[in-house]
Amino acid sequence: MDKKSPHRIVQKYGGTSVGSPDRIRAVAERVKRYHSEGKELAVVVSAMAGETNRLLALSQQITPQPHRRELDAVLATGEQVSAALLTMALHHIGVPAVSLLGHQIRIATDSSFGRARIRSIDVSRVESAFSSGSVVVVAGFQGVDEEQNITTLGRGGSDTSAVALAAALKADVCEILTDVNGVYTTDPRVCPSATKLDRICHEEMLELASLGAKVLQLRSVEFASRYRVNLHVRSSFDDSEGTWVVPEEENMEEVLVSGVSCERDEAKVTVQGIPDSPGLAASVFVPLAEAGIVVDMIVQNVSEAGRTDLTFTVPAKDLAEVEPIIKTVVDKVGAKNFISTPHVGKVSVVGLGMRSHAGVASRMFDVLAGEGINIQMISTSEIKISVVIEVDLVDRAVNVLHDAFIGDDREAKAASPA
Ligand code: ASP
Ligand code: MG
Repeated sequence: MDKKSPHRIVQKYGGTSVGSPDRIRAVAERVKRYHSEGKELAVVVSAMAGETNRLLALSQQITPQPHRRELDAVLATGEQVSAALLTMALHHIGVPAVSLLGHQIRIATDSSFGRARIRSIDVSRVESAFSSGSVVVVAGFQGVDEEQNITTLGRGGSDTSAVALAAALKADVCEILTDVNGVYTTDPRVCPSATKLDRICHEEMLELASLGAKVLQLRSVEFASRYRVNLHVRSSFDDSEGTWVVPEEENMEEVLVSGVSCERDEAKVTVQGIPDSPGLAASVFVPLAEAGIVVDMIVQNVSEAGRTDLTFTVPAKDLAEVEPIIKTVVDKVGAKNFISTPHVGKVSVVGLGMRSHAGVASRMFDVLAGEGINIQMISTSEIKISVVIEVDLVDRAVNVLHDAFIGDDREAKAASPA
């Protein structure tokens, strides 16, 4: 066999890809092709499209707040069905295969029902199936805790099952087969000149969360990054090359900006006139953390006459819960008041090249200024610059930034040698 072609592969098929008997048969044909090339193949499947939502709604018809353990027991059935159906389809076309559920290969997780984290996988049963020339079909999204309870990994969790399995099996590649043909430089619905990325590193993918989240569960990228798993996001409908998400490689910094991402579901809160003394930030953020609210950006102003303002963003859906907490804080610490904006937009440019090239931030601000777009907040990391702007201006900002940094011709926008 060609030395370069991967020998051991984990493939993950999403809900649309196994959404009907015809689709399942098509997946089986694809799997057969790999198998007949002599590859060792573990296939992770999601529930058929819409099934997890159906099971969720069904449970809620019984009780609005089902016990989480039982809810996981119900939700896990979706993947059990598609794993067994795909296995039958493989048998039907003469491919030896066996379906395995989370507990049958001990995908050991903690006990956080609905968002369990994988601790380990026992691959011995998979290895012996490989030795006998069999394809293994694994039910995604599910695991088992120490007490043998069935757990699930959170929405989109089959991606994480696949990456974890690829890490445990030391697979050459983890292919994520989906209904789009890769990860794009930005959302093509917002910006028509968006192009498919050929290659991107894990770190960039994590920062491009809003682009990636549509194709990959974020946790799966964290996992891939930690265990250096090569991901290939590609279409399950054809054989075209998709996007490789890989550990950082040498010449990756040549591209200044890899992608422009945006979010529209954040809210902004400003606490005004807080006495500026030690413990100020803690007084605001400890109660929020205790309520399980994830704060994104934070900006604190320079203090004036012993008082300062603090602005932060939270998921818009959490604002109703945040407001009374902040009201209490304002009263307790003797701040002046607080104001909130229920919807703000966030636009980010991401690229490894920023590490070695100055001027991305200034250019970004300049481009936005040229469009008359006011920046409300700024935050930066080594490879990302994010700004908060008015939500209605997000589309325009994405387009002008994509044009400025990426454009139609990616070559032309590569960073010039420093
Ligand atoms: N079936 C689960 C969901 O819909 C897990 C997955 O598809 O990855 O979220
Ligand atoms: Mg998915």
